[in-house]
Amino acid sequence: MYPSYRERPPRLVGGHPVLDLLNTVEWRGTDRPVERLTDASEVIAWSEASAVIDRAEADELDDAAKAEPAVAEAARRRLIGFREAARGVLLGNAEDAQAEVNRLFAAYPTIWRVAGGSVRPVPPEEPHALPLVRLIAALAAFLADPARPPVRACGDPRCGWVFADGSRRRNRLWCDMGGCGNRAKARRHAARRKGT
Ligand SMILES: [Zn+2]
Repeated sequence: MYPSYRERPPRLVGGHPVLDLLNTVEWRGTDRPVERLTDASEVIAWSEASAVIDRAEADELDDAAKAEPAVAEAARRRLIGFREAARGVLLGNAEDAQAEVNRLFAAYPTIWRVAGGSVRPVPPEEPHALPLVRLIAALAAFLADPARPPVRACGDPRCGWVFADGSRRRNRLWCDMGGCGNRAKARRHAARRKGT
């Protein structure tokens, strides 16, 4: 069991909010993957922790989710659908994933709103779609950037996390040196000791 993102914030190792969204499934490469966006409250907590929404927006979304739980749940499912499609596009341009991302681009065209000197995308009417429209716009911007770093999957296939490899030599192996990187180091160490 993982604690709520409200108790222990997500580890943001992806280097981009859409990649961090992909990492809201733990142990994807095993037969027991763990979904972390288990309800609307977790979606809101994750979105705030990853700066997709700000504190005031998170408070508004919490109120909206309490007032309309079924609508908030539908929004959570749409976000997970987007996550899986985005993953298919970012890790190999799967055709069905591209079709789904294109469908979402058409369903959620970006509406910009300027406030307090900055500008961010907002949903057309229902507030629950706020994280989704922000992440759709972020994916479009990422894919449109010719200088974007390569997207890689963690060197531990059981992990299934992804990251933008911004390392100078483009040779980053692990999603997180403290997690998967450390485990691999310990395994190498144990293998060496066994070998002598
Ligand atoms: Zn990993």
